[in-house]
Amino acid sequence: MIHFKNVSKQYYSDLALDNVTFSIEKGDFVFLIGPTGSGKTTIFRLIIRDLLPSEGVIEIGDINVNKLPGKKIRQLRRNVGVVFQDLKLLTDRTVGENVMLPLQFSGVSEKDAKIRAEEVLTSVGLESAFSKFPLQLSGGERQRVAIARALVFDPEVILADEPTGNLDFETSRQILDLLESINKQGTTIFMATHNDRIIDSTKKRVIVLEKGKLKDDRRSREEKKHVSHEESSSKTHEKNAEEKNVEVKAHEAKHEKEEIKKEDKNEKSEDKISLESIADK
Ligand code: ADP
Ligand code: MG
Repeated sequence: MIHFKNVSKQYYSDLALDNVTFSIEKGDFVFLIGPTGSGKTTIFRLIIRDLLPSEGVIEIGDINVNKLPGKKIRQLRRNVGVVFQDLKLLTDRTVGENVMLPLQFSGVSEKDAKIRAEEVLTSVGLESAFSKFPLQLSGGERQRVAIARALVFDPEVILADEPTGNLDFETSRQILDLLESINKQGTTIFMATHNDRIIDSTKKRVIVLEKGKLKDDRRSREEKKHVSHEESSSKTHEKNAEEKNVEVKAHEAKHEKEEIKKEDKNEKSEDKISLESIADK
C-alpha cells in the first residue's frame, strides 16, 4: 500500500531522511517512532506530496507519488487522511464547521457536508460537540475532532502524527482504541508516536527512525513475547495464501479500473475516487 524505496530528503543543508526503505501493507497498523527531529513528520509530508523527495521513490497503491500530476494531488489527499501534529483546527470556527470545511472546499453542498460531518463526529464519540468551538474541548476531544476531519472522505489510509503527544495515558489509550477501531474497518493506519507505553500495550509493527535513518523495523515487545515457533510457521502459510490472494485481487482491480474508466466521464465532486483509479486515470 505504502512503499518507500531508498528515499532521502534534504532541506537546505539538513539531511532529514537518509536512504529510507520500507513497505506497509493494506490494512496494517504501523507505528513510526524516533526522537524529535528524526524525520517522522517529513515521511508523512512526503506521502501526501506536501514535499518531494530529494532521492528515491514513494508509491501508494499503484501511484508513483513523485510523478503524480498536480490535479491528482487533491484526489490522493482525499484517500490519505492526515491528523496533523499541530491539529490545524480553526479556533474561530465550530467543531462542525472545521469538519465540514474540506468537504465544502471540494464542492460538497453545505447540507450534505453537515450530514457527513455529523456522521463522522458521531463515529468518534463527539456527536454533542458540533456547535462547540475547539478551545471549549479537552485535548483528547480536540484530537478526536482532527481524526473526524481526517475521516470525512472515507480514506484508505490515515496518517496520525503524534496524536497522543500531549495526552495522559488513559486518554492516549482511548485515542489508540479509536484508531484501532477505524483500522478494524479496513483503513490502513500509520501513526507516529513517542509513547512507549502505548506501543507496548499493543502487538503492532514499529518502524524506528534515528537521525533520518531507518534503525529498526520490529514488532512491539508484547508481540515478541508471544510469537511462538508454531505461529511463525503458520505465518508462512498465511503469506503464501496472501500472495495468491494478491494475484486474484490484481485481476479484480484491473476489471474495476476498466469499470471506473467507463464511469469517469460522469464523475461528480462528491464521488469517491479510489487510489487505484487515481493511478490509472
Ligand atoms: P520529527 O517529526 O521526527 O520531529 P521532522 O521530520 O519534523 O522530524 O524533521 C526532521 C529534520 O528535518 C529535523 O532536523 C528538522 O529540523 C528538519 N526539518 C523539518 N522540516 C524542515 C523545514 N521545513 N525546513 C528545514 N528543515 C526542516
Ligand atoms: Mg514531527
